[in-house]
Amino acid sequence: MVSNWKCIKCSSDIKYGAILKSYIFTNTKPIKCNECKSLLYANKGSRLWLILAIALPMGFLDFLNSFPLIQRLSIWIIWLALVVLTYPLVVKFRIDKEL
Ligand SMILES: [Zn+2]
Repeated sequence: MVSNWKCIKCSSDIKYGAILKSYIFTNTKPIKCNECKSLLYANKGSRLWLILAIALPMGFLDFLNSFPLIQRLSIWIIWLALVVLTYPLVVKFRIDKEL
């Protein structure tokens, strides 16, 4: 897989695992570049995508409620796993925290 995550400052590669670790749980914690120690934040669009993706199944509650509880939970967990695993593919970095 080609890495499309590079430090904005020094262009060194950012590891997929590092992105997962930093963003999925807090969504605000910056990644630190191993080379130049810059802090890289996810931009607004990336965070919005994550929030929308996580909230999306709530728009289908009627549909989900037609399944037994166990299946409903499984669907939700699979969905969250997909969101979590694809998040690094859509995330864009910025260095300035305020933007
Ligand atoms: Zn760097």
